[in-house]
Amino acid sequence: MIKIPSQKNTKKLRDEVEAYLNNIVMQSPVAIMILKGNDYTVELANDFYLQIVEKEKDFIGKPIFESLPELKTQGIKELLDNVMESGIPYYGKEMEVHMFRDEKRQQGFFNFVYQPIREYDNITTGIMVVATEVTEQVLAKKVLEKSEAHFRLMANLMPAKITNADAEGGVTYYNKNWLDYTGMSFEQLQSFGYHKIIHPDDLEEFKKRFHKAAETKTDLEMEMRFLNKGGEYKWHLNLASPVKDENGNIKMWLGVTTEIQKMKNEEERKDNFIKMASHELKTPVTSIKGYIQILLMMLEGGHEIHDPLQVKNSLVRVDKLISKLTRLITEMLDLTRIDESKLLLQKELFNLNELVIETVEDIRYTNTKNPIIINENFTCNVNGDRDRIGQIIINFIGNAIKYSPNNDMIEVRVFREGINKVAVSVQDHGIGINKKDHEKIFERFYRVEGKEEKTFSGFGIGLFIAKSIIERHNGSITIESEKGKGSIFTFILPMAAGN
Ligand code: ADP
Repeated sequence: MIKIPSQKNTKKLRDEVEAYLNNIVMQSPVAIMILKGNDYTVELANDFYLQIVEKEKDFIGKPIFESLPELKTQGIKELLDNVMESGIPYYGKEMEVHMFRDEKRQQGFFNFVYQPIREYDNITTGIMVVATEVTEQVLAKKVLEKSEAHFRLMANLMPAKITNADAEGGVTYYNKNWLDYTGMSFEQLQSFGYHKIIHPDDLEEFKKRFHKAAETKTDLEMEMRFLNKGGEYKWHLNLASPVKDENGNIKMWLGVTTEIQKMKNEEERKDNFIKMASHELKTPVTSIKGYIQILLMMLEGGHEIHDPLQVKNSLVRVDKLISKLTRLITEMLDLTRIDESKLLLQKELFNLNELVIETVEDIRYTNTKNPIIINENFTCNVNGDRDRIGQIIINFIGNAIKYSPNNDMIEVRVFREGINKVAVSVQDHGIGINKKDHEKIFERFYRVEGKEEKTFSGFGIGLFIAKSIIERHNGSITIESEKGKGSIFTFILPMAAGN
């Protein structure tokens, strides 16, 4: 037998269910509101909702835009109208809404749904609004995004190559410099792999060191070669530091990689310089010792000297060798003084033409192979370190002789440059210099590499010293040269006042 509840009981049951549901809605930890009719009258708003909009119970029963007029101009009405008309729910994610809260207009962010409420005839008569405020999270996210963008920009502007890797060493970020260096996009580089851009001869060592750094949770530091977009391996100093979590476990690695190819080249050149310098210093010393021994033998036992000419020739040779030694030692001393910015100039007023003539005469005396002509278009005094400027002329003419294997003529010119400058140039018709080396030959220890050049000994410091000295006189050095066609080296100095 079915027990049919009486009408009175049915109403009671319905009231109870309604009260129960109402209770759930009212106590719900999300904001819930029900809007009814075309003016969106608030039929229900739970405590959470009232808290969000900072309203009292009298908020219920009034059209929403009456209580919150500021929402009307922010597109909310259009959204509600759409739901009402279409009967399709609307989901909002992190939507920005401005409301008067705490007595001022404030920004808030909300996740919400506008759920249409349909009556039995399927007509939408109201909208249920379920919302959660996510302002704090969105603002925190924005701060994080901003600082991330800031650091990304910083990482991209840094001259070093920066990587970020996970705890296992899998690279998750390459800065712009890495992408420019390898000529790959982030995705290409990621799939190509970090290990493949490491020089094969350095890879095993790198893996070993990385393993050790991971084990001991310490920095990795290694000089190693990385492949560039031109297919060349360049030396880099690679530093990887582990970033640890609060328990001291590695959570990621930060890598800073700096190109040191220039330094490596200079190191190599310096090594060659030391080898060459020892050789160049030893050769004249050995020869001097030889001449001295011959002279001593001649004088041994109080013998008369039979051949004074031979003695004179030997002494002339010794004198030349000592001059060469002195020059080498002076250059080396100057080099260290320039390095330490301690080069002192002994300035005096002197006639540049006289210095040129004197120097050329000295050279003619020891070098008879190449004819040297002087062309003076201008006579001029300068204020400077006479000895050092003389050394530069010797260096220019010395190079012109050294790099002219066919003993061609060398021309030295003194001429006016502009209004108040004077120039000395030395022209040869020797092996010449490729354009790509024009600037480099003024670098310390730089010597042009090539079959021809190898046959001439030298240190690669003369032009570096010349440039430093001329610049200390507020002057400049220029070069005009073509491979196989000879060279013109010119230094330009300010004229002394009263010229
Ligand atoms: P080095 O002692 O090697 O001659 P420098 O500094 O005087 O040192 O010159 C640097 C390099 O420049 C030389 O090694 C040479 O390759 C090149 N060079 C200098 N002068 C000449 C020249 N007149 N003709 C050709 N090459 C030259």
